[in-house]
Amino acid sequence: ALPQVIIIGRPNVGKSTLFNRLVGKRLALVDDQPGVTRDRRFGEAHLLGLDFTIVDTAGWEDEDEASLPGRMRQQTEAALQGADVALFVIDARAGLTPLDEEIARYLHQSTVPVVLVANKAEGKAGDHGLFESYALGFGDPVPLSAEHGQGMADLFEALLPHL
Ligand code: GDP
Ligand code: MG
Repeated sequence: ALPQVIIIGRPNVGKSTLFNRLVGKRLALVDDQPGVTRDRRFGEAHLLGLDFTIVDTAGWEDEDEASLPGRMRQQTEAALQGADVALFVIDARAGLTPLDEEIARYLHQSTVPVVLVANKAEGKAGDHGLFESYALGFGDPVPLSAEHGQGMADLFEALLPHL
């Protein structure tokens, strides 16, 4: 089986945009498969010669940012089972939010290795959030622009040791 990479983060940080960029045209096939849930989407990703299964999650969507109901935690927990590495995506333009910090605490308790991705990092508007994200405790963030396809080689290098 292919190694599995799971995308985690609060709503609107660009998780699905990253998923779509990694999966490309194969997305349509994925959507036709049975068993695709609203909360998780699976795709076959290709990144500079790396092949892996990519999982888009929506476990923290539609929730009050002040609280994380157990149901949503459980869904993320289920999605983390069997993942070889988690891509924890933050929005470099928006900077860190309490929900980012909550998700970070959650991921620090997990045994799954985490690669921190600072998305929306194109241009200078993302600089502050990029530096701020060091505080999450996952080491160097990978600056990325999922929308513009920038930083994909750095993402490859960060994933390589885990796959
Ligand atoms: P999700 O809720 O985490 O799945 O986020 P989406 O992928 O739906 O993206 C949320 C919004 O952010 C959309 O309007 C995207 O077009 C935008 N977005 C995604 N990636 C980037 C990026 O790299 N740069 C900028 N500026 N916007 C982005
Ligand atoms: Mg999404």
